[in-house]
Amino acid sequence: MILPVVKYGHPVLRQKGARVETITPEIKNLIADMFETMHAANGVGLAAQQVGHALQLTVLDVREASKERPSTLEIDGNPEDAGAFMPLVLINPELKPGADFAAGPEGCLSFPEIYADISRPANVDVVALNPKGERIQFRCGGLLARAIQHETDHLNGILFIDRMDRKTKEEFQLELEALQADTKAALKKPKTK
Ligand code: ZN
Repeated sequence: MILPVVKYGHPVLRQKGARVETITPEIKNLIADMFETMHAANGVGLAAQQVGHALQLTVLDVREASKERPSTLEIDGNPEDAGAFMPLVLINPELKPGADFAAGPEGCLSFPEIYADISRPANVDVVALNPKGERIQFRCGGLLARAIQHETDHLNGILFIDRMDRKTKEEFQLELEALQADTKAALKKPKTK
């Protein structure tokens, strides 16, 4: 089922996600719906907050974008094909960023039409659970590193506009205010069945 993606201005986007302690059938359904929603929107990643759930849960798939924007993935120091690990579910992810930074273009399904270059660590070590509850650990770079950092930020209530430099954020200020106002106005409307 394709879920509505919440937009900037919705309070859930600022909520830190609760850890997922048990991978229940409800969580499995949510993961399936999140993949369907992300793929329908041609997204590279989607966080639970973006479909209204403040949980430490994100889904990713970098394959579509891989030609223009490659990814690297290493397990125990051995290079692997990142595409073979897609689609990827990360539950309770913990990141350890590398020291080098890279700037690259980013967008967000909760911020339609807003794209900007964001500087982030170029590589990141990731520890998380997969949907079977097994611990997975890898190092990644390129688009996958960027996407995982963007999504893990969401799980902690952090948005990509928080990572923009001041000048870039100022350029988007009017659009951001308009988007936030639209979202808040829609939330105030009585729900119709
Ligand atoms: Zn996002």
